[in-house]
Amino acid sequence: MNGAGKRKINKGGSQMKVDLHSHTTASDGVQPPAENVRLAKQKGLQAIGITDHDTVAGIPEAIAEGKMIGIEVVPGIEISSAHEGVDIHVLGYYINYENKDFLDRLEKLRDVRDLRNQMMVERLQKLGIEITLEEVNARKPARKKGENIGRPHIAEVLMEKGIVDTMEEAFRQYLGREGKAYVNPPRIRPGEAIQIIRQAGGVPVLAHPGLYNLDEAVIDLIENHGLPGIEVYHPDHSEEDEERYRQIAERYQLIITAGSDFHGERNGDVFHAPIGTKTVDYDVVNRLKEWAKTSSG
Ligand SMILES: [Zn+2]
Ligand SMILES: [Zn+2]
Repeated sequence: MNGAGKRKINKGGSQMKVDLHSHTTASDGVQPPAENVRLAKQKGLQAIGITDHDTVAGIPEAIAEGKMIGIEVVPGIEISSAHEGVDIHVLGYYINYENKDFLDRLEKLRDVRDLRNQMMVERLQKLGIEITLEEVNARKPARKKGENIGRPHIAEVLMEKGIVDTMEEAFRQYLGREGKAYVNPPRIRPGEAIQIIRQAGGVPVLAHPGLYNLDEAVIDLIENHGLPGIEVYHPDHSEEDEERYRQIAERYQLIITAGSDFHGERNGDVFHAPIGTKTVDYDVVNRLKEWAKTSSG
């Protein structure tokens, strides 16, 4: 259910809805950027956010497709950081995705992702599973500059070998936070991710806060790091999460976003949820644009 939808009455059935969180083949999504844009159009959305992990490589293709078929693309990113060992994802909207300093910064962040893949494969090997980094990297043979490989690709290899049956099982048993092969190399702190996004002229928005169990840290990011928005509506949030973060957002007058976190289908499972599952009104896009404009002066 989409809590955001309850609060606004539709005028003449024209739904101006947007989904602000989706992944493509530029990171660990399955569909190319243009396909996410087509799916969003089919769902009748007004705009779709492209937010790949630590890369903006999918944005130009998505924007070109959006222009062609008539749907707005919100350029974005999802930067990985960590707070006391817990992964914290920070979304960034309307970043200047051609800025050289920003691109250099992202490249360093992606090196950490590669290191992590290597460490996880080593753990799996120690558990007696025959898997190599080459097999994982082979999931994306024509890897272009900026494209990255992540845990879902390792999961695909585990499924292919029959070690697990589903993506969910791969994460529960091995790759998720409680999994036997989970490792988390040092990452930047969330405050730094916010700063990187702001320096690139973008709007930082905390992704899926309900997954961290760190509400004190969330408040700290708002009060002391100038976090202007949070993703209140996400497929992995309970209704209580939605309500709690909606209240926090209202208390601090933050921008409230929503997104499906679509990664595409792997072996019949949609990782997180289909495009359009979680949406907010188009007004939010205007607020993001406004914030990006005023903060970059
Ligand atoms: Zn995330
Ligand atoms: Zn995501």
